[in-house]
Amino acid sequence: MIRVEDLTFHYPRAAAPAVREASFEIGRGRIFGFLGPSGAGKSTVQNIMIGLLPAQKGKVLYDNKKIVELGKSFFNRVGVSFEHPNVYEKLTGLENLKYYGGLFSVPTINPERLLEMVGLADAGRKWAGQYSKGMKQRLVFARAIMNRPEILFLDEPTSGLDPTTARKILNIIIAEKNRGATIFLTTHNMLVADELCDTVAFINEGQIVNQDSPRNLKLQYGQKAVKVEYRNNGKVETVLLFPEKPEDRDQLNHLMEQRKVETMHSQEATLEQIFIKLTGRGLA
Ligand code: ADP
Ligand code: MG
Repeated sequence: MIRVEDLTFHYPRAAAPAVREASFEIGRGRIFGFLGPSGAGKSTVQNIMIGLLPAQKGKVLYDNKKIVELGKSFFNRVGVSFEHPNVYEKLTGLENLKYYGGLFSVPTINPERLLEMVGLADAGRKWAGQYSKGMKQRLVFARAIMNRPEILFLDEPTSGLDPTTARKILNIIIAEKNRGATIFLTTHNMLVADELCDTVAFINEGQIVNQDSPRNLKLQYGQKAVKVEYRNNGKVETVLLFPEKPEDRDQLNHLMEQRKVETMHSQEATLEQIFIKLTGRGLA
């Protein structure tokens, strides 16, 4: 569906390129995520993909066509939510959505319904200028899904939201995928990437350092071990066992038979641990 080849972008006067030869593909109906710390180049890639910034090198293809070849139909087919919410501050939340909805030449979801979905039903008649950052972000998110887009771009969709609200947004993203949308999202939150993405690309200093499904990444970099906590004469003890080793298997069986086991955890790596292994830095 989407193919990005060798994307490179250098902001004028910047010391180093913001994006270097990034290549990836997103299958129809898939969620593809960019995971990386602030400044890694995620938003720059999104902005090139939607045609806001020109690709200086490389290309972005939608079903083998460039954006310029898609013309006005592209606008009707995509939804975009930006990291820095751009709303009309002198219009209410409701008016923002009504105005934006009028720009499409495809059916759109009822604005009141959208506000309710993102938890802004009570704020619909307030000026968007009076919204908090998180509220503006949700308004922009609602705007992004109003045309039931075929392709959805979400730049840090849950950053800065409280856990309950973030959950609401994550559930909508999952519903959008189930509806058939192809989704590109950026995040510095490994839990969001892990839960939502079919494929995660780690991006650091403008370069993709690895990309695969979260499951494959965690298996590739994790330990095939279980950490077992058990009670021994009333004291809690911990042991790391590798079930591939016969002696560890025996010990595990022994512990289970003694019914002393309190917890067992498989030791796959977290996406953040893998990120640190690959880049030498964390996501914060
Ligand atoms: P991310 O979204 O991963 O935080 P960005 O794509 O926003 O990363 O930024 C990548 C790099 O490009 C950073 O070093 C950032 O400082 C730089 N950058 C971003 N926008 C601009 C701009 N308009 N002008 C110059 N440099 C920029
Ligand atoms: Mg960004």
